[in-house]
Amino acid sequence: MKITEISVFQLEPRWMLVKVETDEGITGWGEPTLEGKSTVIEAAIYSFRDSLLGEDPMRTEFLYQKLYRGGFYRGGAVLSSAISGIEQALWDIKGKKTGLPVWQMLGGKCRDKIRMYAHAIPFADDPTEEEIAYWVKKRVADGFTALKTSMVAPPIRFIDTFSKIKDITKRIAAMREAAGEDVDIAIDFHGRISPAMAPILIQELAPYHPMFIEEPVLPENVDVMKRMMNFGVPIAAGERLFTTFGYRELIEKQAVNVVQPDLCHCGGILQAFKIAAMANNYFMSVAPHNPLGPVALAACLQIDTCIDNFLAQEHPTHEAGRDLGKGIFQEPFAVEDGYIGIPDKPGLGFEIDEEAVRESSYDGKWRNPVLYFPDDGSLGEW
Ligand SMILES: [Mg+2]
Repeated sequence: MKITEISVFQLEPRWMLVKVETDEGITGWGEPTLEGKSTVIEAAIYSFRDSLLGEDPMRTEFLYQKLYRGGFYRGGAVLSSAISGIEQALWDIKGKKTGLPVWQMLGGKCRDKIRMYAHAIPFADDPTEEEIAYWVKKRVADGFTALKTSMVAPPIRFIDTFSKIKDITKRIAAMREAAGEDVDIAIDFHGRISPAMAPILIQELAPYHPMFIEEPVLPENVDVMKRMMNFGVPIAAGERLFTTFGYRELIEKQAVNVVQPDLCHCGGILQAFKIAAMANNYFMSVAPHNPLGPVALAACLQIDTCIDNFLAQEHPTHEAGRDLGKGIFQEPFAVEDGYIGIPDKPGLGFEIDEEAVRESSYDGKWRNPVLYFPDDGSLGEW
């Protein structure tokens, strides 16, 4: 079998897909989305085209290494995301060729269904306590046993007033009150908090027993992240780290309790599998990061099925179900009582509706919000 063509589709709301075709008529799909940078990823993928045409798509690891090491310059968000999507598509081809789901080729089932965690609040900023209560109760009524929010913190200065900490704490208290004691609550701070403020904040939040706090500080400085582990709340990070090399220091220094490889950025399925194995040496859990589209979810579900140290799978919880594949897959995934069943189809576990993909194509120019401090106009973290 030989690779004959590679093409990219930009998909609303902010997703992209890569399609890898072969001379046997088997086609593989992957999701290389790098939110806000998708036009750059498109160029990166097409720059790999010459390295892939004519190659045997069954040589998944060899081709990963050819793209990663063969170009001399390596790693980083752009190249790693481009490779991630291609790597997923190669696994999809391998599964369709052999008739096996990817998880079956990576050791088989470690569980019978996959626990999902929902995005608690479906809009951007500044929810009231009433809105928080409404959405949390809705998610719990829908059957979810774990929720996450990132909608609780405005930009915070390196040293800021305690009232900002109190505002965040009030919102998490409202979440806990609405969710009850039996639902897990995760909080994502997008690296917004400084090493000075984060310990104060984490200690204020500890009485509400978060499942984990994600990126309380920026992930670039592992020693600073490790200090966040001292306050009785599990710490998570990893969506902005790439390949096993990017994870090495975080894991070896035991700077988190939960690693969150994003299968669209970390190098793909086999890199995520290796990162999970590295994390397992230190009894860390794995919660694959995914605020993206249904092909990313499909790749995550393969890893969730076959690794032992899985915690829960992020689920962006689009009301229309597009993140589960509605309008994109012939048969979308279904969440039942907060779980998705093990996907049993070959490859990544879906058949794509290519016409629907073409119909929802757009120019790929979604951009993340940029936040400023209102008093002096200086830049905050999103
Ligand atoms: Mg995050």
